[in-house]
Amino acid sequence: MDFDLSGIEKDLQTAAREFAEGEFTDVAQEYDAKEEFPMDIWRKACELGFIGTFIKEEYGGAGLGFMSMILIMEQFWRVDPGIGNIVLAAFGNEAIQQFGTEDQRKTYLPLAPAGKAIWGCAVTEPNAGSDIFNVSTTAVKDGNEYVINGNKMFITNGTVASHLIVFCITNPNGKDRTKRYSFFIVETDRPGFEATKLRGKMGIRASDTAELSFSNLRVPSKSLIGEVEGEGFKQVMYTFNINRLFAAAQGVGIAQGAIEKAIGHISKREVFGNTLSSYQGVQFMIAEMATRIEVARNMLYKAGWLIDNGRFNPKLVAMAKLFAGETGVYVCNEALQLHGGYGYLEEYGIGRLYRDAKIVEIYEGAREIEKITIAREILGREK
Ligand SMILES: Cc1cc2nc3c(=O)[nH]c(=O)nc-3n(C[C@H](O)[C@H](O)[C@H](O)COP(=O)(O)OP(=O)(O)OC[C@H]3O[C@@H](n4cnc5c(N)ncnc54)[C@H](O)[C@@H]3O)c2cc1C
Repeated sequence: MDFDLSGIEKDLQTAAREFAEGEFTDVAQEYDAKEEFPMDIWRKACELGFIGTFIKEEYGGAGLGFMSMILIMEQFWRVDPGIGNIVLAAFGNEAIQQFGTEDQRKTYLPLAPAGKAIWGCAVTEPNAGSDIFNVSTTAVKDGNEYVINGNKMFITNGTVASHLIVFCITNPNGKDRTKRYSFFIVETDRPGFEATKLRGKMGIRASDTAELSFSNLRVPSKSLIGEVEGEGFKQVMYTFNINRLFAAAQGVGIAQGAIEKAIGHISKREVFGNTLSSYQGVQFMIAEMATRIEVARNMLYKAGWLIDNGRFNPKLVAMAKLFAGETGVYVCNEALQLHGGYGYLEEYGIGRLYRDAKIVEIYEGAREIEKITIAREILGREK
């Protein structure tokens, strides 16, 4: 067994860490307070090749597989999760690469790495989150076009995206409910599109989140992802699984950032005549945090490595996402505790991580949904 990252992966990890430390640190609090997508930092990230690294070289990417995205996401989230979500500028491109027609791959995949597009993946609706079978946005064929009507909720990059992939129902009466849905590529400058920014999020405030409305929005038939209707459910499951890995990387990254802040604080802070780090009770807290991070990272890297080597394991992906999400929340909580009252002040940055961490337990399949997936894989679908 070889647990080492490749030379390219190590270089990418170092570059991502240096970029995040250099570009995010001083402005993180400001972007969080303004709830603003960091356009300038996203542009630099594109120039330096951090966006869409999984996209194959023939389609304008670096062809470095999903592990590369995991490593970048982890390092970005280690410094600041809100800004770190610029990695999601290629959100949905994994579905186009896997299921799109050759024409779609050639047309759309080069855009995100080149900084010519920001993407979003619109699945969730006001009444369809965990239960995506409840999606009611319709796409109805009309000649050589589809007409899309409906609303989407909580869509990352919603107001800054130039392109979306939109999950719609195309055959509402289909007997097999897994064949009722299709994904469409939608340019957001089409008439009938409206995005409303959701302000007042608890965390990841520099990451844009929006409510979307599609009102008689027309796309050409060739915007349907793939060759035929009804493949959307299979495509969304694949997309979720890849993005669950990225979410797990977020959990590991934020936990790593929080433990480093805690170690920095307890090494300097003197209480009862000694540094906090000299007390065994505090040392045990650090040991517990570090152990959980190690377990979460190992599961994540194994799941990522398996996908890049053609051995996709949905149970392990769900486990990695579940455990990394819980680890992020746990470690940020403990790290804030170790900061005492200073942790409660914005300027120490740990409070922001504490707020940011929770999202990993909610999106890309909430904690309970990951447990349902794991249990189904173990016990079988019918049990
Ligand atoms: C900041 C942010 C960004 C997001 N970005 C995107 C995006 O880019 N694209 C997108 O499509 N969506 C996005 N989402 C939506 C996100 O994926 C959903 O919020 C999530 O899937 C949960 O759906 P819900 O909010 O409708 O909760 P619900 O489905 O109403 O669930 C509520 C709670 O009940 C639990 N629950 C549900 N069913 C069961 C059950 N059978 N047994 C036990 N417990 C259950 C859930 O785990 C959850 O904890 C985003 C959300 C947020 C907050």
